[in-house]
Amino acid sequence: MEIEESKTGIYCLYRKTEKLVDRLQKLVNQLTNKHPEFNQLPAWIREIPENDYFFFIWQPLIDQLGHILLNNTLVAINTGRTDLPQIQQLTQTLLQDLFKKYTCHQYGKERSYIGEADKTRRICRYCGKSEPATIFKNTAHAIPEALNNKHIVCREECDSCNEWLGNNVEQHLINYLAFWRTLYQIPGKEGQKKYTGKDFEMDPAGKIHVRVDSPLDDPAPTFPITFSLTAVDKFSPQNIYKAFCKMVVCVLPKQYLSRCQPAIDWIMGRREITQLPPVWHKQVKRSALQSPELLVYVKKEKDRALPGIIGEFSYAQLKFVFILPLCETDEMAFLSPDEFEIFWKTFKHLGKMENWQHQDFSSVEKKTIGFMLTIEDPNRVL
Ligand SMILES: [Zn+2]
Repeated sequence: MEIEESKTGIYCLYRKTEKLVDRLQKLVNQLTNKHPEFNQLPAWIREIPENDYFFFIWQPLIDQLGHILLNNTLVAINTGRTDLPQIQQLTQTLLQDLFKKYTCHQYGKERSYIGEADKTRRICRYCGKSEPATIFKNTAHAIPEALNNKHIVCREECDSCNEWLGNNVEQHLINYLAFWRTLYQIPGKEGQKKYTGKDFEMDPAGKIHVRVDSPLDDPAPTFPITFSLTAVDKFSPQNIYKAFCKMVVCVLPKQYLSRCQPAIDWIMGRREITQLPPVWHKQVKRSALQSPELLVYVKKEKDRALPGIIGEFSYAQLKFVFILPLCETDEMAFLSPDEFEIFWKTFKHLGKMENWQHQDFSSVEKKTIGFMLTIEDPNRVL
């Protein structure tokens, strides 16, 4: 066993072996009456691959950057990577300043139930009502279930707001992402779905069938052949932005909720915004995520040049970064390049990724997505 002590906490590095699990099980059996909270520990350790290393953190005193550095260490030990010093250096360069200014909350990888467990003490985050003025009978998913979120649940979204938000806000985001859902064969609420456009259909396996008079009927078609395809489902860009922010409000730790009240009023249609900050988005070169992930950054300092709350939403190969508007700790609206440049420089780990586009999602007009489909000559020599 190796024991190390850091400036902020104590942690041990172990190697998972059957002998270790047996010893741990005996210890847990002895402690079970006084400390039943340890009962699940052997089962958790058993899930670690045999002979892999893991850290046991004795005190929850290691900060967020410390956790990431420990995780890098584990990956390097378990995979035999030899460039750990360089990885740690890069991690510190990219994240050190950010974690001084922001706390990061991550959702998507583990099951999360957010908010008050006791229904009689719940206050809905969107309408402010409690029982009996409203009810909390249904399961409210923080990220729509139609995007394959099964396990991030907000307990403080009442049935009435859940229904209204689903129909008026979240459906716009689902329509916007439905093409990607089918293309990457990500399940919807009831399994995999086909995607139907005006002039094409994509089956649940991601195969596209075009319904047009095909130039391929020509005995000698000229390649490449390009089709312009149109979706059927409509969405309003501003409601997509509202859906992003609704997810943030769902998962936000309770102590920050008061900062979001103006944004909650806007999401629920109680106030209007004509101009929103841009949304940064990009396609990430990696295998598509099968379930969505959400990161929420909450500002620690009263730095007027930085937004109070920022969301980072990942779905399939898409990543969206957005500012929660009207945050009560903000003194700026972050509408001009000067205003959002400082924020973007603080998020160096995002800035390091290339090919970001920023787009204005302020419009309330309903739109559809258009696609270009290009067919190359099947006989072309590559
Ligand atoms: Zn409500």
